Amino acid sequence: MGEDVEALERRLPLIEYLRQCNWKGSPVGRSEFVGLCPLHEETKPSFYVNTRKDIFYCHGCGQGGDLIRFVQLSRHLSFRQSLACLDLQPRPAVDSAAVLEQAATFYQQQLDHYPEAMRYLNRRGVHDPALIRELEIGYAPGGSLRRHLTAQGHSFDLLRQGGLLNVNGSDAFYQRIVFPLRQGEHLVNLYGRSIGAAFAHRFLPGTKGGLYAWEKVRHYPEVIVVEGLFDYAVLRQAGFQNVTCSLGTHLNTDQFRQLYDGSRTVHLAFDVDANQSGQLAADQLAHRLGAHGITARRVLLPEGQDPNSFFVQGGDARQFQSLVEAAQP
Ligand SMILES: [Zn+2]
Repeated sequence: MGEDVEALERRLPLIEYLRQCNWKGSPVGRSEFVGLCPLHEETKPSFYVNTRKDIFYCHGCGQGGDLIRFVQLSRHLSFRQSLACLDLQPRPAVDSAAVLEQAATFYQQQLDHYPEAMRYLNRRGVHDPALIRELEIGYAPGGSLRRHLTAQGHSFDLLRQGGLLNVNGSDAFYQRIVFPLRQGEHLVNLYGRSIGAAFAHRFLPGTKGGLYAWEKVRHYPEVIVVEGLFDYAVLRQAGFQNVTCSLGTHLNTDQFRQLYDGSRTVHLAFDVDANQSGQLAADQLAHRLGAHGITARRVLLPEGQDPNSFFVQGGDARQFQSLVEAAQP
């Protein structure tokens, strides 16, 4: 036998097996699904699956149990035969994108319920409800995602593989404002900004994708690139549509290619910090873009500022626009 019963059941929750067998269940309550019983003929659904306990029970025929019991009954096999047969099951296609979508939705639903999250957004100058919805901004309070997603029938292993849970099984994002990162419609990662003392920036394992919301800006002849999503949010709120975000000063290959895939002028509005790291990065990037025939200019913000703090401290769209127009090659 390739693996023990417990490991097998962890990897293949009953609900996933049933779905593979084309069983259709409707959710009832937090962690239950009901549908027609696959074990006896019926017209009214009486077959219940509890995804938290990973068991089924049919009120029609009175049968119940776990995944292996279900395979025994439905395929008329012994316990050992059922186990062997499940062991041969293809590993469920790890649909990490679907799980990521559900996590993003869950975080979005939490935002309104946590005053500390709204206070943080306000402090960072983000207050337009329409923009918050458009960017699908959410909040990860920590400690509730695992319960929510396992109740949806996702296995612990899948959540851990996707990085949504730590090795010890707790939520990876704890007290963080969450921005879903999409490439087109496809959700590729989540960015979490700590609202507390924890390490400020976090992504889930894997790629951060291309430039943020690139599809929206790629056709503009002039594009503003910022390094943080809060910079992005305040600029959008101030009415700038031609802005994108590189999620850090180091651009990955995809992001770099996007900037030179057409002719445009790029305005780099990176942080102006004491150690000059933002400006140094902007310098280097401007040079690299220049080598690809792209005009890149550095927007010089006042000392110690980034676009976010510029607006939070009272700067307005007109003032920012003059800085963009004064940008140095
Ligand atoms: Zn039944």
